[in-house]
Amino acid sequence: MTPQRASPTNEKPELDWSWPAFVALTAVQMWAAHACVFFIHEYAHSFTAWVLGWKSNPLALHYARPTLLVLLTQLGISENVDYAPIFASGHGRQAAIIAAAGVVLGNALITFPLSRWAYAKAKRQALRGWAMFAYWVCVASVGNFIDYVPVRTFTNEGDMGTLQRGFGWSPWTVLLVLGIPTAIALVCFFLRIEPSTLQWLSPSTPARRIVLVVLTAFALFCFYGAAGWFEGCPTSHMISVVSVCAVFPLMTLVRGVLVRRNSISGSAVSPGALEKATHSGTALRPKAFGRRAGGPRYS
Ligand SMILES: [Zn+2]
Repeated sequence: MTPQRASPTNEKPELDWSWPAFVALTAVQMWAAHACVFFIHEYAHSFTAWVLGWKSNPLALHYARPTLLVLLTQLGISENVDYAPIFASGHGRQAAIIAAAGVVLGNALITFPLSRWAYAKAKRQALRGWAMFAYWVCVASVGNFIDYVPVRTFTNEGDMGTLQRGFGWSPWTVLLVLGIPTAIALVCFFLRIEPSTLQWLSPSTPARRIVLVVLTAFALFCFYGAAGWFEGCPTSHMISVVSVCAVFPLMTLVRGVLVRRNSISGSAVSPGALEKATHSGTALRPKAFGRRAGGPRYS
């Protein structure tokens, strides 16, 4: 039931948890990954404000009254930076830098690359449990990208509002400057990171890959994508509605069909044969596991 370290010679070809354990571990990991990414985002604001001289204690965040919702989503916890005196003293650009630090420094430069490094390290040691956690940290990082661009780009409050006011940018400029790297990250995620990770985590159980596909799309387009549903402006609300009601089902369908198609095209060698070959080291092994053992496709 517990993810175990395995050498390349005795590597297990599959997540070997029961379904209840898999579901429970996935739920805990998704929550923990979101919390890690969330706090690093907030501390990126806070430490940037401290470095620029606008905060005396970089560890002091604003904490909401503890409720189940706060515990599950960290809603109400924030960077605890007072932007009013920064603008009042004519340092709007510094306010913009502090506002941008959450997603740029915290998520794009720390949590996203850290998640990829952790995944590669876990994969080298065949630690599928840790690899899956690193995957969810990656999902939460990408979720934070779209949570701000495009979902809340058109609001005049929060990080994006402060960024626009401080730099004197229009939302369209923000969309261009931050939207291009966000779009590139999304394309890389869906074309490379998600397919290769899910295939390595669960190569012979398509049902688990489909569950992970649905949860990934839900996290990205319903949890993070819904950030503008109840706050911000009508444009943000509309983007969230499209994200939840159109992009989520569409991406789930497309990725689910691809998983299903890959499963059928790969069924010429049955999962049972693959497993036997893995444990016995027969001639099937190089063909079936050569790429998984260290091939570049699964980086
Ligand atoms: Zn922020």
